[in-house]
Amino acid sequence: MAERVIIVGSGPAGWSTAIYAARAELKPLVFEGAITEENRLSGTLPLGQLALTTEVENYAGFPAGDLKTFLETAIDPDRLQFMNVHEGKHAVTGPELMELMRQQAINFGTRIVTDDVVEVDLERRPFVVRTLGGTSHEAHALIIATGARANYLGLPSEEAFKNRGVSACAVCDGALPRFRNKPLVVVGGGDSAVEEATFLTKYASKVHMVHRRDKLRASMIMQERALGNPKIQLEWNHTLDEVLGNDKDGVTGVRLNSTIDNGKKQIDASGVFLAIGHTPNTGLLKGQVALTEKGYIKWTQPFRTLTSVEGVFAAGDVADDYYRQAITSAGTGCMAALDAERWLASEGIH
Ligand code: NAP
Repeated sequence: MAERVIIVGSGPAGWSTAIYAARAELKPLVFEGAITEENRLSGTLPLGQLALTTEVENYAGFPAGDLKTFLETAIDPDRLQFMNVHEGKHAVTGPELMELMRQQAINFGTRIVTDDVVEVDLERRPFVVRTLGGTSHEAHALIIATGARANYLGLPSEEAFKNRGVSACAVCDGALPRFRNKPLVVVGGGDSAVEEATFLTKYASKVHMVHRRDKLRASMIMQERALGNPKIQLEWNHTLDEVLGNDKDGVTGVRLNSTIDNGKKQIDASGVFLAIGHTPNTGLLKGQVALTEKGYIKWTQPFRTLTSVEGVFAAGDVADDYYRQAITSAGTGCMAALDAERWLASEGIH
């Protein structure tokens, strides 16, 4: 029998959608993503981008506090044992927030499949959803909340040293021995770059932030953090030309190019972390849903999560190249569930 609603994605948008859909008795089925090496490298493991971040200081309702007891009582002990629950006062971390949302969705009856959706057939009704694991599922309504993944520059040298010093996730890889007490490079000038650079100062002897302009894009509070950190050195007006290294040591440095006079400069570094923005995860749609010029799913009505295909809704970063915050993703997740619920009712599907 066809599902009433299938939700693809397991970030704040996916879980908020699931919480609302479950409470509307739609018995949602969530595909949270597969645990594969490919997904690890591209940053698309279950729980999305927030699982790759540290403290989330701006999610309303989570001021810094001692969350240990709360987490221990709220989250399934089987999953809690794999989490690094911190003692003492801190803001909720990305992984903690995602586990809390996931558990909240389960508490209301959400079912979860740990697999990737690789293809959807939107020509047929009910829609058909196919997974990496080879299973097929039908759904009357579909909510796409697949988020976005970190960009790389596309340099051959960057590709050559992936997993040997080149990464797009400081939180995942920063504590590796190869990065300890060594100079590191972060590329980018947005909030992610500052967050990654700040995080890496815990391990690195120095962090060079390479930015192509003379002004950071990051929010004021994050800028102050970067500029006030003695271990962070800004390399203004430079781009990354080449990652340097060898087979034995992996990354040993970078060659930078000045955006002002094309001058070259070399910096020693044992790691390079890319933080240059994101690309929406729309591959599973294979051209069946209209996208914006930038490749994000197009919302076809103002203040609605409707897409170009009736019965398909989009929530979170996969459809938002503007706000891209955890809380706005969660908000559009709620909207998508309400939109889907109302559409299903209008179609007489209960
Ligand atoms: P972003 O804001 O789009 O910043 C990307 C940065 O990379 C920009 O500084 C950009 O330079 C640079 N860049 C892009 N392409 C480049 C290229 N080819 N070569 C060199 N540099 C390049 O992305 P983000 O930092 O990942 O942030 C995404 C969203 O998440 C934002 O809305 C941000 O506020 C949010 N976020 C928030 C937090 C937080 O509040 N704690 C943490 C992380 C992310 P230009 O500035 O010159 O364009």
